Amino acid sequence: MGNQWLGLWLPQMESSRHGAPRRDSNNHAEYIALELKLSEAVLAGASVYTTLEPCSRRNPPKIPCAERLVQRKVGRVFIGMLDPNRDIQGHGVRLLRDANIEVQFFPHELMKEIEELNRNFTRKFRDAPRLTQTSF
Ligand SMILES: [Zn+2]
Repeated sequence: MGNQWLGLWLPQMESSRHGAPRRDSNNHAEYIALELKLSEAVLAGASVYTTLEPCSRRNPPKIPCAERLVQRKVGRVFIGMLDPNRDIQGHGVRLLRDANIEVQFFPHELMKEIEELNRNFTRKFRDAPRLTQTSF
């Protein structure tokens, strides 16, 4: 299984572009970008592009990425694909919208491409739903 193609991009800061494979890493792309690379940046009102729906649940003390985005008061989040884990699919979107953050999706063609690139990642959840508990 290859690494997932996941990343986060803030157009205001080209250098913040960051991809983080999730398979072997506990650090999601949002965490790396928001906490390690942009910890001092003012992100209020910013547009954020993320290939995968920001997560809504993590084992404490880790903060879910959707909550991090809420805390940083971003204005708009563009999402490439929903979380393939059906237990949490759509929860990140709801969390953002509840905080009055605008949520939009990538153009259809691009979403298809992202799903294609992440097919193994997606399949893991479809074929082995019992594995989902270990993935946070
Ligand atoms: Zn996350």
